[in-house]
Amino acid sequence: MIEAEEMKVPMKITEILAQEKPVLSFEVFPPKKEDAYETVERAAAGIARLSPSFMSVTYGAGGGTSRYTVELAHNLWKHYHVTALAHLSCVSSTREQIHAMAQKLKENELFNVLALRGDIPADGHVETDYQYASELISDLKEMGDFCIGAACYPEGHPESATRKEDILHLKEKVDAGCSFLTTQMFFDNNIFYNFLYRIREIGITVPVIAGIMPVTNAKQIKRILSMSGTYLPTRFKTILDRFGSSPAAMKQAGIAYTTEQVIDLVANDVHAIHIYSMNKPDVAEQIKRSVSEIMV
Ligand code: FAD
Repeated sequence: MIEAEEMKVPMKITEILAQEKPVLSFEVFPPKKEDAYETVERAAAGIARLSPSFMSVTYGAGGGTSRYTVELAHNLWKHYHVTALAHLSCVSSTREQIHAMAQKLKENELFNVLALRGDIPADGHVETDYQYASELISDLKEMGDFCIGAACYPEGHPESATRKEDILHLKEKVDAGCSFLTTQMFFDNNIFYNFLYRIREIGITVPVIAGIMPVTNAKQIKRILSMSGTYLPTRFKTILDRFGSSPAAMKQAGIAYTTEQVIDLVANDVHAIHIYSMNKPDVAEQIKRSVSEIMV
């Protein structure tokens, strides 16, 4: 491992993934309103102090929370020497806006970008310059020395007619220049193993980071699942039914479930895991501690 003091610039995510050690990363999302910035910054700091392999910072599709992505990501390196992965979505932006954002990322030494289309807003209003993430990836390749990642969906993207079609479009993103993938959350590891087999079979060879969400709040998961269509195993549904009405019990059970998923992934040779930590340093800390002897 390269010690933080020795690093002059943040590492590329591909360099982190190429190291012969497990990768455990966490996610933060910027505030929706300005007055919540300090709270989010504190949460990000709490997670950064755990020294994760890197941290990702999400980007609001409709401009809502996008203003703070660069600032939060920049501060992760500046204050904590944690490499940041800045998300960037394109469907609600013009080419000019994307170019301006790419410039801003460079000025802030943010060269790791997760390139996304973004969700179509509820009112259906999108810009016309970018239709798919693959177009953003091609553009970013031209705009600088970015290390570009993209999203992938072990259960298929909800808009795709079939998983096969979605995987073919995923290949387009890789061919456009993305050099790693992060998955949508899944609660059944077998779905992920099957997906890995299928993408390798069609020639997608880039590293895949398994994205796992600790469910610590029953309401939160019901909303997320209605949006993503993620499959919930019976074992998980039983936990939700039994503990969903008790916040403390749900939190404990949710963390334990995630921990078990991580252990199974590592046991099956998956060494890059991203935790959708939802601005919760205590949850991130408990998971990191629970796998401290497993992810070494
Ligand atoms: P794309 O890869 O463009 O795919 C979208 C759909 O179009 C898919 O169904 C795909 O199969 C299809 N498609 C692709 N190319 C073609 C083509 N040429 N012809 C026809 N169909 C095609 N959203 C945010 O707003 N901000 C975030 O920070 C954010 N972070 C995320 C992080 C991860 C790891 C994941 C998994 C998702 C994230 N999202 C985020 C959500 C994401 O923006 C949505 O899931 C969005 O609906 C799809 O984005 P994408 O980049 O995967 O799109």
